[in-house]
Amino acid sequence: MIDFPGKAAAVVYLQGCNFRCPYCKSAELVEPACFGPVIPEEVVMEFLRNKGNNLEAVVITGGEPTIHKELPAFIRRIRHLGLLIKLETNGSNPEMLRELMQEGLLDFIAMDVKAPSANYAQVAGRRVDTELIRDSIWAIKNSNIRHEFRTTVVPGMHTLRELREIGDMVHGCDAYAVQDFVSSAPLRRELAGLAAFPRKPLEDLSRYMERRVEKFIIRAHDEAKRIPIRRRRASPASRIEARAGIG
Ligand code: SF4
Repeated sequence: MIDFPGKAAAVVYLQGCNFRCPYCKSAELVEPACFGPVIPEEVVMEFLRNKGNNLEAVVITGGEPTIHKELPAFIRRIRHLGLLIKLETNGSNPEMLRELMQEGLLDFIAMDVKAPSANYAQVAGRRVDTELIRDSIWAIKNSNIRHEFRTTVVPGMHTLRELREIGDMVHGCDAYAVQDFVSSAPLRRELAGLAAFPRKPLEDLSRYMERRVEKFIIRAHDEAKRIPIRRRRASPASRIEARAGIG
């Protein structure tokens, strides 16, 4: 009910990714050396079939699902079971996205927008053709398919100014979410243990975004490391005022 809001959904994780975001917490889906055994497609289909009416949707995520040329055929098979499909993508394959959208195979698309174009490579950990990213954003925004863009915000990798630039890139979309970075096991070890992006600039961003998108979301993660908010010691005068109920 979380991954496809309001629908009982199964999640299928596909191994492999063409990016290496330093903050990524899914090494087992990104680094071939960490890959575990693959569940055969037939076993997945059997599982989905056996769920019957208890299952309404399937979320396909990764890694990056669109690097697999077999993805459209896999989605068609799931579609035949009468299930809704949500695709999570990094937006690097607009051609496949269009094919899936035009065939009416998607009901919900969530796309990561990592950074403004100028520093995409730094945040994605790989050289990225940002025209492809812009093309995907455009295609998704102009589809009639429910969608969400999102950015994992990392201290030292994003600034409020850059988040506003991303906000301009997704202007007019259904929903834009900024989500906490979790530093328990990032791809790049130097980021381990780092605190989450501070909340105040995200609240400032909220005011900027509310005029640009239908819905702006600050998505907290339970495992994100927070910097404790230090309360300013009240001055003796203000303590007296507080006790007296003044001010
Ligand atoms: S966070 Fe980056 S590296 Fe990790 S799966 Fe997503 S696109 Fe790939």
